[in-house]
Amino acid sequence: MELANRVKALTPSTTLAITAKANALKAEGHNVIGLGAGEPDFNTPEHIIEAAYRAMKEGHTKYTASGGLPALKKVIAEKFKKDQNLDYSPQEIVVGTGAKQSLYSLFQVLLNDGDEVIIPTPYWVSYPEQVKLAGGVPVYVEGKEDNAFKITPSQLEEAVTGKTKAIVINSPSNPTGSLYNEEELRQIGEVCLKHNILIISDEIYEKLIYGGAQHTSIAQLSPELKEQTIIINGVSKSHSMTGWRIGYAAGNSTIIKAMTNLDSHSTSNPTTISQYGAIAAYGESQKPVEEMRKAFESRLNTVYEKLIQIPGFSCVTPKGAFYLFPNVKEAVRMTGFDSVDEWVAALLEEEKVALVPGSGFGSPDNVRLSYATSLEKFEEALERIARFMKKKS
Ligand code: PLP
Repeated sequence: MELANRVKALTPSTTLAITAKANALKAEGHNVIGLGAGEPDFNTPEHIIEAAYRAMKEGHTKYTASGGLPALKKVIAEKFKKDQNLDYSPQEIVVGTGAKQSLYSLFQVLLNDGDEVIIPTPYWVSYPEQVKLAGGVPVYVEGKEDNAFKITPSQLEEAVTGKTKAIVINSPSNPTGSLYNEEELRQIGEVCLKHNILIISDEIYEKLIYGGAQHTSIAQLSPELKEQTIIINGVSKSHSMTGWRIGYAAGNSTIIKAMTNLDSHSTSNPTTISQYGAIAAYGESQKPVEEMRKAFESRLNTVYEKLIQIPGFSCVTPKGAFYLFPNVKEAVRMTGFDSVDEWVAALLEEEKVALVPGSGFGSPDNVRLSYATSLEKFEEALERIARFMKKKS
């Protein structure tokens, strides 16, 4: 059977491809260290699990309203107010099956064929594919490494055409950990307002920020920017709830209503039990969130110094998320490989360390290492990489 053109054009996820290869090696009995994970390695906090269990026992196992339970929207609105001083009504919030699905719905309701979406590189792998699935055209703007992988207002201005509909800002970023500060966001916001570009602000790593840095949402900067922005967030990364699949979008009520309508015909509603878990996540103590953040920060401080000691590696210091995104161009040259992809494949084959090549993130000179893994494992992986470099140089 012939498949639809829209799926034939899909690029498979590089993250999943490397994980599959690593798992195959593991199944053969090899001691593989996977640094490809995109999820916290902590358990979901106990009180969230208890709340979901209680919900099931109390019979909350049926459909809910399509855009999410009113009680969940209420705690999400309270979170926006408390953390970012942003006011959103229930009509301005739609809960989805993870932030990924919220983004998917957003692109679906927003884009007509040929509409352009500006995606700064390096980018999270799903943005371009989701834009294409909605008939849109991704327009890449290079976040230069010497500007901590962030784009500038003049780069943005140059990329704007009559077809530009939206831009994706992901701060802190997957894969770079870069964080836009208030002034940078203000300047980008000005360009977006001038050209009426919708800002999609993916804030899924909002709670994972290090070195005393602060998270700013572009929506906080003025009422005009709030109106121009759809915030995407969720509990996956902040509360270690990746498998629960709860994310949300907040912003202009016309867009949110369209997303809710669309979701009513696709997912119906985010899993009921998970919604009760998310109510507990936001409604009760935020202590576990801060504990996990601290653990990530301490790991980062240890592993970053070790990583940059490896010959041929240089790395922008991440300010958030749980990834390191070193430039390994020199390391690849020193070891005689033709590309980072080949170097990554040989490292997995010979030293059983799984990294994600930067090509999947639109940045072919880099690799992504996730420190959402034990320090012990990460340090052993670095030793193996150093050994590989020595052997091949
Ligand atoms: N946005 C970014 C930048 C991500 O890294 C991820 C997950 O890896 C998501 C969105 C989606 O998160 P979820 O669908 O688990 O809420």
